[in-house]
Amino acid sequence: MSDKIAFQADVSKMLDIVINSLYSEKQIFLRELISNASDACDKLKYWALTNPQVAEYAHDFKIIIKADEKANTLTISDNGIGMNKDDLISHLGTIAKSGTAEFVKNAGDNGSVCELIGQFGVGFYSAFMVADKVELTTRKAGEDTAWHWTSNGIDGFEISEAKKDSCGTDIKLFLKKDAKDYCDTIYLRQIVRTYSDHIAYPIVLDLDKAGEEVVNKGSALWTRQKSEITSDQYKDFYQHISHNFDDPWLTLHFKAEGNIEYTGLLYIPSKAPYDLFQPDKKQSLKLYINKVFISDKIDTLLPNYLRFVKGIIDSADLPLNISREMLQYSPLLEKIKSGTVKRLLKELQKRSKNYDDYITFWRNFGIVLKEGIYEDFNNREDIVAMSYFYSTHDKEKLTTLDEYISRADKEQKTIYYITGDDINVLRNSPQLEAFAQKGIEVLLLNDPIDEFWPQVLPNYKGYSVKHITQADIDMKWERSEQKADEGSLKKLTDFMSDLFKNELGKVITTEKLTTSPVSLTVEDGQMSLHLERLMRNHQQSTAFASTRILELNPYHPLIIKLSDMIMDDKNKSQVEEVARVLLDQAKVAEGEAVSDPSFYAQKVSQYILQSLEKAC
Ligand code: ADP
Ligand code: MG
Repeated sequence: MSDKIAFQADVSKMLDIVINSLYSEKQIFLRELISNASDACDKLKYWALTNPQVAEYAHDFKIIIKADEKANTLTISDNGIGMNKDDLISHLGTIAKSGTAEFVKNAGDNGSVCELIGQFGVGFYSAFMVADKVELTTRKAGEDTAWHWTSNGIDGFEISEAKKDSCGTDIKLFLKKDAKDYCDTIYLRQIVRTYSDHIAYPIVLDLDKAGEEVVNKGSALWTRQKSEITSDQYKDFYQHISHNFDDPWLTLHFKAEGNIEYTGLLYIPSKAPYDLFQPDKKQSLKLYINKVFISDKIDTLLPNYLRFVKGIIDSADLPLNISREMLQYSPLLEKIKSGTVKRLLKELQKRSKNYDDYITFWRNFGIVLKEGIYEDFNNREDIVAMSYFYSTHDKEKLTTLDEYISRADKEQKTIYYITGDDINVLRNSPQLEAFAQKGIEVLLLNDPIDEFWPQVLPNYKGYSVKHITQADIDMKWERSEQKADEGSLKKLTDFMSDLFKNELGKVITTEKLTTSPVSLTVEDGQMSLHLERLMRNHQQSTAFASTRILELNPYHPLIIKLSDMIMDDKNKSQVEEVARVLLDQAKVAEGEAVSDPSFYAQKVSQYILQSLEKAC
């Protein structure tokens, strides 16, 4: 008797994309199936440590590949943990992560669906790129019943009871007509060597009468001497654990000795993954204890701001017989973590000296690394030192705080920054005019995290770090321009303060502006407007909205004109109208929405028309 079960909607959607993609490197299906077989052996090995009843099955692990040219089938077998009926239904008929099909679909648009397939945790389904039908026979370690699973990869699968002598899984692919190549042992050998050489279990080609041939090295790569590992081998291993196709930007293989000994083989990808900012994205190093795979879900191995690092940590000094949950909080693990972080940061620091090289990394992951300035008290200074920012100094090239300091005047003891969401809006911010006038460089910080880290870094190498609204420098300079009359100005600011009393804290004049008539800012010490927008976007309360201040430029002809006009009561309604447009203009320059867009648009076109009429 067999059960017919439909695929979860997500699976069908995804399979449809995978099967119909015209991707040429279909051979990665083998890498994915071998990787699953190796995972299955890892799982049984680990399970056997604490469960004597399955220990008897956990030996002589190997992965066997057998091609049948006549039948045009390819079978991949392992003697790992196997699956029972529930496992089959939940692992091979659903997709654990919600939204995966959506991601695959979007990735498919860029033609890279197969490159990504392993990263989505759906590697198994890649078998359907080369096979019309997949047949699985599997038996879970410690259980008597074996199961048969078949599917054409279209509507669903069938499950029935089966016979199998030992635990593990056989996956038989009925190859498509155009996929006959995968029965060719020469080709198979080559694919295995390319993608799976570092797998820690023997991968055996079953050559029928000619016997069996072990194709890979079969020992954990990180246990070998550095000098015996080629860069291709490092790269293959990286691609295996990350399911990426790029070359790693950084490869770091080290052995730590001392109180606790451990080996790390860590990588930083040269491309950012699709899910770097998923809220549930955790770091994903694989933890081994003396070459036994323990888990890739121990999220205390690295801090979150290094979640883009891939790789493994192996230590023989960790206890094998405690649960993974307990292990999470082991003080030994804490030591490994801090040691590993130090090594990584040191390596990054070295690379940060070469701008052209480092900027690739920085553009991918800088935004994440900067979280560390905020989160990692111990390494704060180091992380800041290797961080790059936009600044008013250079339009293209980013700068470090140290470079900023080296350019600053002797008297300047402050590093100034401004925050916002768009680098171009920032560059043109009216708030920067006085700084430009005085030749003071300002950092242009345009990532959300930039609102937070300066708050925990009030000083850097003897310089205070300040938002430009908190600048305590004298913003006055010799100006030859005409300035509005003090008395009229006072009347204008009073009038506008009253007009906008529900919306603004106050209206004042400022010496900071040159070309803009007005600018919007906040009371000293309050949340910046950018931060406020961020909070709003994340549905955080705006109950604490900062008090806004509208600053007027007394040297600007528009302000001079308005302050003249306000002296005569009959101009009031016209001054009021212009004042409203000016407030809107200040909001636009800050990247905020205007309160009444149609009023604003209408007024602006009216003024343009007037000026055009005058011109003709
Ligand atoms: P991932 O390996 O990222 O979890 P896959 O699509 O490759 O995603 O595999 C899905 C799941 O199916 C695995 O997590 C595992 O539980 C199960 N599985 C696949 N192949 C095997 C196998 N050979 N032995 C045991 N379980 C397997
Ligand atoms: Mg897999």
